[in-house]
Amino acid sequence: MTEISIVIPVYNEEETIPELYTRLLGLLTLLNEKFAVSNDHVEFIFVNDGSKDNTLQSLISVTQQHASFKVINLSRNFGHQIAVTAGIEMAVGNAVVLIDADLQDPPEFIIDLYAKYKEGYDVVYAVRQRREGENFFKLATAKMFYRIMQRITNMNIPLDTGDFRIMGRNVVDVINSMKEKHRFIRGMVTWVGFKQTGLLYHRKERFAGQSKYPLIKMMRFAWDGITAFSTSPLRMVSYLGFTIATVGFLYCLYVIYAKIFTNETIQGWASVMIVTLIMSGINLITLGVIGQYIGRISEESKNRPLYIIDKIYQKNVS
Ligand code: UDP
Ligand code: MG
Repeated sequence: MTEISIVIPVYNEEETIPELYTRLLGLLTLLNEKFAVSNDHVEFIFVNDGSKDNTLQSLISVTQQHASFKVINLSRNFGHQIAVTAGIEMAVGNAVVLIDADLQDPPEFIIDLYAKYKEGYDVVYAVRQRREGENFFKLATAKMFYRIMQRITNMNIPLDTGDFRIMGRNVVDVINSMKEKHRFIRGMVTWVGFKQTGLLYHRKERFAGQSKYPLIKMMRFAWDGITAFSTSPLRMVSYLGFTIATVGFLYCLYVIYAKIFTNETIQGWASVMIVTLIMSGINLITLGVIGQYIGRISEESKNRPLYIIDKIYQKNVS
């Protein structure tokens, strides 16, 4: 019955909600005109991810104005990727769209994504062609991250692509069956396979407010992506171990030779200090990397729910 579900994670975006609502109504009209998809075949699912401002009140009032809009209110802030997951699991459409609430992803572009999807693709992701209002540092780190990811995961996660995309029911069902806790959705979608393609779009400036991904969160997100799809950090530390052991062994030969066959007095303070400090540093880093993977095993094994729903709001139902 429902043709398209549009999932929108929302965290402290009260200033943007009225404009977002207007733009989404515009999208409804376009869907109607271009594809004869009527209002009752479209659902908008806002996931309120523990906002601390008046976002929830604004969203509830939207649901009272229009029956196509629903709100899932999570019990606290679970983070962007989990919020998206909650929305996808609730979505019933034949196709599911993921889009940010801050209007950096223009809602009208969903028309293009849908048209391409209708050509027979299972996933159409939106590729950032130009980004406005994001500083050089964010652009450079994002670019570097995607290239490193592609190198080490053996997976062609599309470059310069966020979560803005449309996915067919077949893909969504697989994603819903993947219960991992550290979720890197764009990687999971690539992993699923089927017929995927990208469409270029212009990523806009935030309509209002600040990015909710400061540097530290971005780094955590990047690390999640890498550890979820690759054990190459473990491989890298073991290569490092082999290299150092080899160098150490060769140096030992020299030390023994010097002791037995030469009269050089072996002075040792500087070299011993250097070796001790470097080695214990590398040991700790290696342990840390292993610890990160063990920590992830521990988190997965606890089997906690991914998110907790406080309440679902919908017109005349609550
Ligand atoms: N978001 C969320 N939970 C969070 C952080 C962000 O639901 O903990 C939402 C946010 O409201 C926005 C989307 O996720 O709709 C993307 O966040 P943001 O725009 O801050 O990220 P950026 O575009 O800067 O990468
Ligand atoms: Mg944004």
